[in-house]
Amino acid sequence: MKLEGSKLLNRNEIQALISRGLNYVHFSKKLEPIYKKQYQHEAALEFRFRAPIIFLLYIYLSYGIYQNISESAQVHQWLTLYAWVGLIIFTAWIVSFIRRFDQYFDLYAGVGSAAAVAISFVIITSVNNDNDALLHASMMYAVIIIYSFVGLRFYTALIAGWLGGLIAIAVTKFLNYPIDWTFLNRTYTFSSFLGMSVAYAIDRQHRENYLQNCIIELNKLEMDKQSEQLELLSQLDSLTGLANRRHLTSVLDKQWHTAMRYQMPISILMVDIDCFKEYNDHLGHIAGDFCLQKIAQELQCVTSRSTDLAARYGGEEFLLLFHMQDERQIEKIAAKLLERICNLELPHPASPISPYVTVSIGAATIIPQEHDELSAFIQSADKALYLAKSNGRNQYFMAKNAVA
Ligand code: GH3
Ligand code: MG
Ligand code: MG
Repeated sequence: MKLEGSKLLNRNEIQALISRGLNYVHFSKKLEPIYKKQYQHEAALEFRFRAPIIFLLYIYLSYGIYQNISESAQVHQWLTLYAWVGLIIFTAWIVSFIRRFDQYFDLYAGVGSAAAVAISFVIITSVNNDNDALLHASMMYAVIIIYSFVGLRFYTALIAGWLGGLIAIAVTKFLNYPIDWTFLNRTYTFSSFLGMSVAYAIDRQHRENYLQNCIIELNKLEMDKQSEQLELLSQLDSLTGLANRRHLTSVLDKQWHTAMRYQMPISILMVDIDCFKEYNDHLGHIAGDFCLQKIAQELQCVTSRSTDLAARYGGEEFLLLFHMQDERQIEKIAAKLLERICNLELPHPASPISPYVTVSIGAATIIPQEHDELSAFIQSADKALYLAKSNGRNQYFMAKNAVA
């Protein structure tokens, strides 16, 4: 699950939160609702496993009490009351399986907990027998479970634990049952403070874990981003920004096989700058590099579809890859490219062909068959380029019967 907190805070802010000590077990106004949402979802999931354990412990406890006071005249009265607590646990357990109720976990688990405390409390005051100590123990058990095992956040547990007691006192007063405060303070009040300490420690630990997980997630996101950038960089030629030869080889190989499987045309243009050695000799290598970049931009423009690819094949040689273009369309693209490069009007003082930089293009198109070889196809474009060169340069030449 994505930790929303890692979208809201950066690493330093999270680190600052952790080092501040989380003493107040409450995040900022912005972070708390995000944390709460995630926490409640996780707590509801966890409760699915914890509720049966709570239930079993509870039955075990009730059975123990029953063994001791089964002679009592009021046994049915407290059994009924205990059955209510069992029903509360069972209902909360069922609700925890309904995902859309996760957001209300604090509410339903909190109300259930308060009711469980109140009922355990009222049982003690309403039943008169010699086994008070056992009933008190059962209430302490309920209080401790609520604070430490239901999975409520500290403040919710606090409210549930004390509110349950207050309701019980109100009910007891209303029914005119006597309250033994000395005993209750030793059991209910003491176990409430003990439970509060446990709930506080758990909540704090949980928050710290959450923040640590946010940092881990941030690190992971950063690493993913970096590896994506590295992957991208490893596919590019550093001077021109076009695909490098390694990337071209892998894309070309894939497209060749796709074209063969679906019997679709695949085309390549091999582009070579005319008299580039002279260009370098006259204007220098830096101007040569700049020229390569300018030409690369034009190549990029004619390969704008996502399935097209422009790559630097060698020094001043480029290879353009097209998918699903027939011979006529490829010829059009080659002619357009020649025109675009002429229109750049990059002065070439030593060219015998033109006052500006020009290129020659060898083009090949094929619907590859089983017996065709990719290397032979590339060679056919290379041969076409050679023919364009020997025919006077600044032109394209279409390879006929590309592979044969
Ligand atoms: P042709 O018209 O037959 O293609 O002649 P050419 O001079 O272009 O061909 P040749 O293969 O003789 O020369 C290619 C030149 O490209 C040689 C080399 O200095 C230059 N070159 C290759 N890579 C780079 C580069 O990265 N930067 C620069 N500035 N020049 C490069
Ligand atoms: Mg050249
Ligand atoms: Mg060359």
